[in-house]
Amino acid sequence: MINKSFLTSAGFILLFILSVLRLPAQQYDAGQTYFGASQYIEYLAGELPIVITAPHGGYLEPTSIPDRDCSGCSYARDTYTQELARTLAEALEARTGCLPHLVINRLHRKKLDANREIVEAADGDPQAEIAWTEWHHFIESAQAQALQRFGKGFYIDLHGHGHDIQRLELGYLLTSSELRLSDSALMARQLLSESSIRTLAGNAPQGMTFPELLRGPSSFGGLLEARGYPSVPAPAMPFPTTAEPYFNGGYNTGRYCSRDGDAFDGLQIECNWVGVRDNAANRQRFADSLTSALMTFLEMYYFGDVSTSLCMQSGVNATPPEFHIYPNPRCDRFYAEQHDPTGATWQLVVYDFFGQILIQDELPANETLEIPLKYQRDCLVVLRRNGQVIRSQMLFYCR
Ligand SMILES: [Zn+2]
Repeated sequence: MINKSFLTSAGFILLFILSVLRLPAQQYDAGQTYFGASQYIEYLAGELPIVITAPHGGYLEPTSIPDRDCSGCSYARDTYTQELARTLAEALEARTGCLPHLVINRLHRKKLDANREIVEAADGDPQAEIAWTEWHHFIESAQAQALQRFGKGFYIDLHGHGHDIQRLELGYLLTSSELRLSDSALMARQLLSESSIRTLAGNAPQGMTFPELLRGPSSFGGLLEARGYPSVPAPAMPFPTTAEPYFNGGYNTGRYCSRDGDAFDGLQIECNWVGVRDNAANRQRFADSLTSALMTFLEMYYFGDVSTSLCMQSGVNATPPEFHIYPNPRCDRFYAEQHDPTGATWQLVVYDFFGQILIQDELPANETLEIPLKYQRDCLVVLRRNGQVIRSQMLFYCR
């Protein structure tokens, strides 16, 4: 039997660890998922200089947040854009070995529109306002981390439109009528400086003009078009006609891209339904194609050889994280996996707040262990291999 004084000192140690680990809340580890206060906003921390957001793909409709009710507001979900964003993150990881940053609004648009300024977004509800603040905190943290490491980055705000014309609508903050200007008029009016790819202006390869960056064969739309995804603007459809609906980029694109001088370029992608969002196989196919187009775009204009510059620059190799627990914070269960290259089985021990063992289990390599845990407080997960402690990590409770 373990004596009481040991438990007390272990408890103090754990309390100390807890208090220390709680402080650096801004520290986000790649591969880990973080949630806001009520799990309305989810952030999958990455290490690529790519930030993807899905503001309108949420399902949660908590009764504690009243439905938004504002004149002229939209409440419709962009169906399957949350799923598409996750698939895109997976495709990028499969391609590069590293994850992009991914921020998801899990609230239904009826409760929070995460692509509006706070008044219209939250309609005055305090909980929705907290979620709105968390949404922006996570995006800002992601961009800051990418800028610290790379000095630049690329942002994609992912949406779905319900327009009849089945094509991707790429929003660079230029209006439909501005896009209908001739190439020479676009240049003469210096509309690049009002666009979401303004930073490219100073860095574009010799001889590349703004219209070419916007709708030439080597534009984002051109690269998608070449992969079988009709897009506007792009060579085949350089602008929407006056009769055609078109989304040119919203609040997030304005806030997180380079128009106002930020180092991040980016755009809003409004996805059509057929062949892009309508089923899992098509979302997978599109995510792969979008990954391919994005990598080509980043290689041409930002990072050179992306196979060596994006993932390796961090000093982290391309293998999956050796140990992973998720979600964190967790509610009534969590999952654990480890990828020990030797294939060794590890021992997983979960300690409560006072240093007592809650769970002890074997964790084989490359398997996912589902672990129910009713304990309603933070705890500490310790991993051992052959009796030696090799990793430990706080596992927070979802309050
Ligand atoms: Zn949308």
